[in-house]
Amino acid sequence: MAAYSEQLDQQRRYFSSGATRPVSFRKTQLKTLRQLLIDHEKQLIEAVHADFKKPPFETYGTEIGIVRTELGYALKHLEEWVKPQTVSSTLVNFPSKNYIITEPYGNALIIAPWNYPVQLALLPLVGAISAGNTALVKPSELTPATSEVLKQLIGHYFDPSYIHVELGGVETSQALLNLPFNYIFFTGSTRVGKLVMKAAAEHLTPLTLELGGKSPCIIDETANLEITAKRIVWGKFVNAGQTCVAPDYLLVHRSVKDRLVQQLILAIEALYGTDPSLSPDYPRIVNQGHFDRLAALIDPEKVVIGGHTKADECYIAPTVLDHVTWDDRVMEDEIFGPILPVMSYEQLDECIQMVNAQPRPLALYVFSNDSRTQDRLTEEISFGGGAINDTIAQLGNHHLGFGGVGASGFGSYHGKASFDSFSHRKSVMKKPFWPDVPVRYAPYEGKMGIIKSIMK
Ligand code: NAD
Repeated sequence: MAAYSEQLDQQRRYFSSGATRPVSFRKTQLKTLRQLLIDHEKQLIEAVHADFKKPPFETYGTEIGIVRTELGYALKHLEEWVKPQTVSSTLVNFPSKNYIITEPYGNALIIAPWNYPVQLALLPLVGAISAGNTALVKPSELTPATSEVLKQLIGHYFDPSYIHVELGGVETSQALLNLPFNYIFFTGSTRVGKLVMKAAAEHLTPLTLELGGKSPCIIDETANLEITAKRIVWGKFVNAGQTCVAPDYLLVHRSVKDRLVQQLILAIEALYGTDPSLSPDYPRIVNQGHFDRLAALIDPEKVVIGGHTKADECYIAPTVLDHVTWDDRVMEDEIFGPILPVMSYEQLDECIQMVNAQPRPLALYVFSNDSRTQDRLTEEISFGGGAINDTIAQLGNHHLGFGGVGASGFGSYHGKASFDSFSHRKSVMKKPFWPDVPVRYAPYEGKMGIIKSIMK
């Protein structure tokens, strides 16, 4: 605890020195992070593979590549983001100039989960650096190889008074949360998110909560079922389903449900072969605890493909469950693994009601050729973000802010939203000494008519 406190004190002194504020400094640090990723791409890919056999293609595409793209975008736009923004004056304050200055919060704490261990530790860091903060990053204890490499590399490339990685589990996280950071960026489960928010309340620390939930995927009778199945299988089973925005369950129009299930089976075999345990492109479950939790969700009577497990290597085959109901265990909590329950609906209204009866999800996916259905679903259901006729791809567009709503969290990042999240927007009104309009000063007698004519 004392060591963490000393670490924060060091970072506080560093921030107070003003070193992190110049744009030139921030850009240099963004370039340093980019260089780290270039120099150690192989080491990072190997570490993630050691943790849960994630294929190199996926580690580049969904972790390193995303961070590099965002680094390039931030480097290109940072100068325009930091410029004060001029806004209009109002009659009552005439004459005045009005503008908004962004300032870094100061000392940021970033707590990351294990499922995208590089991306989810470093992408918030891009925002923290861009906005001029120091950062203390706490990666997950469940991916020890990747977290250790991140610690070594960040320690090698950055001054710890500026950016530092602290390894550890729940106790470390709790001890850090007790300290008066100026901003907290937490990615993880809704359960822990609530604890983080309680801890933040103690110091009134502003925060972003990037949480999870059960993200529905709705398929109507007009969808192209072959393409739909391929895109669902890709988004569900990439990272072996351990993706916060993976489609958690399917709600399919009754008239096309059986045909879609057939297409899902074909798509799984096309991507991973008839024995996915032999595919180099299919990762493992992160640890025994999650393996046991997931294995218990598979009802053998409802399996239409998959269902095979190998406990010794934390393998769970891509699994589709048919004829699932809301009473099944698999529908209780976020699945966060390679199990895809399929349910059906008859009327769109009924479908919307079912989804809206659940906590607000992080993502929603709609597969339909009917623009009215697309509009109704995206307008009448509350969700963090989503896609029409694709899954999880929205994450790859840094022009789209990414974040949850309700139980799936609040705040947003990616692209400029990352800079905004880690910045306080200071509103400033600037007035000349003259004229000094006398209306507002007491005595007020006889002035009510004037104020009423201005303020209406
Ligand atoms: P988690 O909440 O268990 O852990 C996240 C982090 O919090 C870890 O660093 C962990 O050490 C720390 N932590 C755990 N328990 C804690 C406690 N009691 N007090 C303080 N800190 C604690 O989540 P996880 O299992 O690592 O990740 C899976 C969850 O994260 C899923 O719910 C998933 O949907 C969500 N997630 C969300 C996003 C997003 O961007 N919205 C991205 C990835 C994962």
